[in-house]
Parts: sequence; C-alpha cells; structure tokens
Amino acid sequence: MFRKILIANRGEIAVRILRACRELGIQTVSVYSEVDRTSLHVLLADEAYLIGPAASRESYLRIDKLMDVAKKSGCDALHPGYGFLAENAALPRACTDAGITFIGPSAEAMEAMGSKTAGKQLARRANVPTVPGTSDPIENPEDAQALAQNMGYPVLLKAIAGGGGKGMRVVPSDAAFRSAWRDAASEALNAFGDPRVFLEKYLIGPRHIEIQILADAHGRCVSLGERECSVQRRHQKVVEEAPSPVVTPELRRKMGDAAVRLGRAGGYVNAGTVEFLVDADLNFYFLEVNTRLQVEHPVTEQVTGLDLVKLQIAIAAGHRLPFAWETITPRGHAMEVRLYAEDPDNSFFPSPGKIISFRAPTGPGIRIDDGVYEGWTVPMDYDPLLSKLIAWGNSREETIARLRRALDEYTITGIRTNVSLFRRILTEPEFLRGEIRTTWLDEMLARPYPPAAPPRPGTEEAALIAAALWHSAQSNASAPGGTEPQPAPSPWKMEGRRQQMDHLP
Ligand code: ADP
Repeated sequence: MFRKILIANRGEIAVRILRACRELGIQTVSVYSEVDRTSLHVLLADEAYLIGPAASRESYLRIDKLMDVAKKSGCDALHPGYGFLAENAALPRACTDAGITFIGPSAEAMEAMGSKTAGKQLARRANVPTVPGTSDPIENPEDAQALAQNMGYPVLLKAIAGGGGKGMRVVPSDAAFRSAWRDAASEALNAFGDPRVFLEKYLIGPRHIEIQILADAHGRCVSLGERECSVQRRHQKVVEEAPSPVVTPELRRKMGDAAVRLGRAGGYVNAGTVEFLVDADLNFYFLEVNTRLQVEHPVTEQVTGLDLVKLQIAIAAGHRLPFAWETITPRGHAMEVRLYAEDPDNSFFPSPGKIISFRAPTGPGIRIDDGVYEGWTVPMDYDPLLSKLIAWGNSREETIARLRRALDEYTITGIRTNVSLFRRILTEPEFLRGEIRTTWLDEMLARPYPPAAPPRPGTEEAALIAAALWHSAQSNASAPGGTEPQPAPSPWKMEGRRQQMDHLP
C-alpha cells in the first residue's frame, strides 16, 4: 500500500480523498493556491504546499509544480480528483516519469476512451450502440452541413474537447446551422483551446443514465450499476440518483455488460463511468466515458456499501477486486443534490463571499461531502460547488423525504445558495413520479413560479399576514453580506403559529 498520497485538487473532492486516505492510514499532501490558504483541504491535510496564485493555470493546472511537491514531500502516489488535470493524459505520463503511481487509468487508456470521438470509435468496435453521428472531428462547415441535412434535423454540434455542457449547440434547422457552428467552435476554442467539433443526432427528451465501472490490473472489470442523472440545467447534472426509476434488472445487466465490454476493449484500469442516453423505449446509446471519479460517485457508494476512493487506491496499488459483477446488488435508494454558491433568483449567478454561519444537516440517512466551514470565504475563482447533500433510504419515497428534511435543516448565511431550487424540484409531481428527461429541469424553470392561482375567498387576509411575517423575518436577519432569502411561511407553519397564538394567555 502507499505511504503518502498527493491530492492534486481542491474543494469537496480533495476533502473526500483525504478522508479515505486517513481511514487507510495513508499520509496526505495537499496543494493550494493563494486564495485557498485556509481551505478545508489544506487544514485537514498532513502537509500542504502553496503552488501559485488563484488562477488555476498558474496553480492547480501546473503539472511541473505538482511533480515538484510530490518529489520533495516523498509521495508515492497522486490522486487527481475530478476536473482540473484529471482527464489530461500528460499527468499520468509525468507521474510515470517521476516514479509516482497515478491513481487512475493509464495515459493510453485515457486517450483511447476519454475524448468523445475516440470513445465513440472504441464503442463501435466493442459493439456498443452509440448516438448516431460522426466519430471524427469535421474540418469545414460545408461538409458538416451536408452531413446534418443527410441525418435530418435537429442535430447537435459538440466540441471534441467538451465538458460541462460547453461548446455544444442544438441546431433545429438548416437555416440555423452556420451561426450554431460559429458559436460552438468559438465557445470550444475559448473554453478548451480546441475549436474542433463533431456532429450527433439530437435525441428528443432522452434520459441520461450512466454505469460505474471498476477494473483492476489483473483483468477483472465489473459494473456497479447505474446512476440516473437526467435532472440537468443546461446539460449539467444537478440531481443524481441510484437506482434509476426506469432501469429493470435486465436493462441494468445489458448496460453493465456494454460498459464492461467497452472498459475491456480500452484496456481500462481503475474507476470510470460510461455515460449513455436512453430513449423512451429504453434503447440505450453510448455518449462518452469519464476516465475518473465522478462528482456523483456517492450515490453508488450508498447503494453498494463500497468506498470507491479506497477501491481506486487499492487498484492503483495493484490489488485485485475481491468480487464478481453478479455479487453486487444495489440496496435501497440514494439521491444527491449539488449545493452551489449561486443565486437561483438571478440566473444562477455565482455568489462567492464569506460564510457567516453554517449548520449542516445530520440524522438518519444523510451524508454531506463538502469543503466549507463557517467563517471561510468561498473564492470567486473556481467552480462554486459547496457541498453535496446525499440521502439514502429503503425506497425512493423515503430518500426524497429525507432529502427534503435535510434541506430544511441546511442553513447557510452570508452567501446565496441554490437550496430553493431543490426544494422546488423535490415537490414537482413529475419528479416524484420519476418522469424526468434531460430537458425537464430547463422546461420547469421556464414556467412561472409559484404558479399564478386565482385568489380563493378569505385567503387575502392570510396572504397579507404571511407577507408581513416574511418581511419582518427578512429585516431581522441582519447577518452582514446578506442572507439566504427564506420562502414565505407555508400554510402549515401559519396554522401552527395561529394555534400557538391561540394558547397565549
Ligand atoms: P459534456 O461532456 O459537456 O457534459 P455530454 O456529451 O456528456 O457533454 O452531454 C451532456 C448532456 O447533454 C447529456 O447528458 C444530455 O443531456 C445532452 N446531450 C448530449 N448529447 C446529446 C444528444 N445527442 N441528444 C440529446 N441530448 C444530448
């Protein structure tokens, strides 16, 4: 086993990896930028080293600085987390050159599977169904437009180097093609330094369902089942759950087999995720492989009882996976929401700043993976993910009830958060019935909220009292830096208050 691991990341995922190391008795080394001096991943590490200014290209993206720290602190392995350099094959190569074990796949497997087009080519060779479209970048817009006409609209233009929904444009018709091409290519160039795009058929209202795989260096590759990630805002996941409300044991086995076939074909070792789109008839189509740990890995951990980070470390250290695919049966239900420092009332604009007060929910079936604490300032320089709130229960209903209860207990002041978005999602009838598609959340957000209802006789007075109470609560909340706006008291609370008042002498 390793003696000391360098964690080449920050925020909640660095803390998550630190925790696994601590439980395994492995020493930890964190790296940090100037704005992260007092971040949780620095405070919790055995050693921590400054690697540069806030801009990630001067700090968290500098392979040379990471290698310097790894060598001078005597690390024998490096965990990349997700984001930053996690899917950059130059990092495993640099680790190999420095005699440090990279906790993840080989550079070759990353290249064979990690790029969207290479992944599609491999999927075709491995007999895994793919979303119809090209599996090579297209050089000029004339060829691309001819292909789109052939395929039939709508089509989707996608950046080869894409991620986080960037460099992606839906093209509804031929007339819109040229401008969509220009937009996709320039966004891709700005975000990834690579303007190349390719073309896919745009599927109408699919689900996003992905399979977690684990592969050891001794030829065993297993599927740990699916995660449903169809609740997305602008192609980015915001709620994930396992199991999927629509996946049957038979479909789970088929998708698991396809993912494992792909993993084997790519010589994949370590944890990876094979993403699929699933249509209304439950046909599944390969989308891409994420050659790293995913943000949403905890939902799989909660239903399998496995610790994916510890397994990643064990696999990298050359251990064998101790089980076969048949032995892993998901138990119960798990769901994760991504809590961001952003303002849902202002186009989800990032809301960095000082956390004045913070109380995290606890209790049965609740887990929080976070990288924040009271008094810490959320920097403006990085992705504003604060915490992942994960609930699990015996059924989907119990899990949702626990998540709602935990969201009510979650209090944070000083910054805005998207808590109210989840309060709303978790009460939407379609969501409760599991009838969700990748476009569902954007459609929900386009609807007026709360829905305008005709006033019922006698409710005007109650509404006035509610409004007065809400305003007084707002002016009493005097924490500097602003507070999370509280929704108007529910009729249930109002009723409770009225009864309390009735009992006053
Ligand atoms: P990124 O790497 O930028 O996250 P993905 O290829 O993983 O991009 O796709 C992200 C999301 O975009 C998917 O989960 C899905 O909602 C949507 N999407 C991608 N490809 C298609 C497609 N061909 N048809 C319909 N929706 C798609």
